[in-house]
Amino acid sequence: MQGIIEKKKHGYSLTLDEWSWVVKGFVSGIIPDYQMSALLMAVCFQGMSREETIALTGEMMRSGECLDLGSVGRPTVDKHSTGGVGDKVSLALAPLAAAAGLAVPMVSGRGLGHTGGTLDKLASIPGFRTFLTPSQFVDQVTAIGCAIMGQSEGMAPADGKVYALRDVTATVDCIPLIAASIMSKKLAAGPSALVMDVKVGNGAFMRSIEDAERLAKILIEIGEGEGRAVSALLTSMEQPLGFAVGNALEVREIIDLLDGRGPDDLREITLGLAAEMMLLAGTERDLESAWATAELKLNNGDAKTKFAQMLEAQGGDPEVIEKPSLLALAPHVVEFNSPDDGYLICFDARLVGEIAVGLGAGRRKVDDDVDPSVGIVLAAKIGARVEKGQPIAFVHAADEIHANDALLDLRDAVELGSEPPSGNERLILKKIDKTGIKSWKVPDGKNGEHPAIS
Ligand code: URA
Repeated sequence: MQGIIEKKKHGYSLTLDEWSWVVKGFVSGIIPDYQMSALLMAVCFQGMSREETIALTGEMMRSGECLDLGSVGRPTVDKHSTGGVGDKVSLALAPLAAAAGLAVPMVSGRGLGHTGGTLDKLASIPGFRTFLTPSQFVDQVTAIGCAIMGQSEGMAPADGKVYALRDVTATVDCIPLIAASIMSKKLAAGPSALVMDVKVGNGAFMRSIEDAERLAKILIEIGEGEGRAVSALLTSMEQPLGFAVGNALEVREIIDLLDGRGPDDLREITLGLAAEMMLLAGTERDLESAWATAELKLNNGDAKTKFAQMLEAQGGDPEVIEKPSLLALAPHVVEFNSPDDGYLICFDARLVGEIAVGLGAGRRKVDDDVDPSVGIVLAAKIGARVEKGQPIAFVHAADEIHANDALLDLRDAVELGSEPPSGNERLILKKIDKTGIKSWKVPDGKNGEHPAIS
């Protein structure tokens, strides 16, 4: 191991055999944490070649069980977001895609840093089981078309172990390590196609378009190398997605979306990703028809019915759909009022995510409990004209102390200007697939433009 660390430290590529030896040795406990940490840090400084990243992903994926979805009988397509604030899309997308005839075997994660996690949101639904055995998972995907679960111990265990080490050794923000981590567990679940939602902006792990493109390209190469179809949408994460940030609050917003209401930006990303999933699976020919199918299934209640079936299958109480009051509600709800008159030109996604974590919606340490009820609900988005004293957000807190801390911190999260933001920005910025980078535009007549951050 010393020789391997030395080699990487000097910028050389490791061979497939060397990566295989490292992964096996680390999972079996022969390689200690301190040597693995040194190697990970060397990777952060020296990077990894494309071949190495593919080799590491394959070894991590095969360190545990790889599911066979051959019996499902429909195209199997998953979606993965690289992480954002208020990103609750998966909760509606999996049932929506299932209602459109796809099978969605979704493996999701807990919140990470300032970003929320699909598993924590689902866990706020009374009774919902986020862990299934592999056979329960496959049976449910076959029976109703979708299941969402956490990475089980037997699935890509090398990623579980490496990730825990990266989390405490400042080695998370490294593109090849992120790519290998995401893809090892997503591919182990066995989908034949995968759409990536690569978030870019201040609330995302990738702050620049260039980094987001680099990450998207390697994710696609890894997936295609394993014989799966992969495409990526680059989507903006400058302000929280939708209005709600916090677990049960986000489930409420998803119920609104499935009821045909819900914020425009959340609806647009959900429809866009659903359309991409259908295109990649080959069930639709072009974006217009795929979008129309997704819109139909969202508007006619089919997606909502699937969501209810998924909740029931995983032990959750489907009554929450008609009675969201069954979800946890924080005891202290206080207004955050605009400090002045003006136009909202920034609602800092990262800071809002951090404030939500401070309220208890996420974790500061791995074994922290998450409070499902707390969070922040925005009352205005970038571009809105606001008056002094008008509520622009609501803080949902466990107690007065937390509520007051959040109110203070929120002052730094918003910026007002005397003029509206100067331009518009697309929410879905571009598409990347194995043939290259493409522009992406929502079908004619649909809203695809949003006030840009100034
Ligand atoms: N999500 C993952 O699963 N792994 C990473 O390294 C980063 C985000």
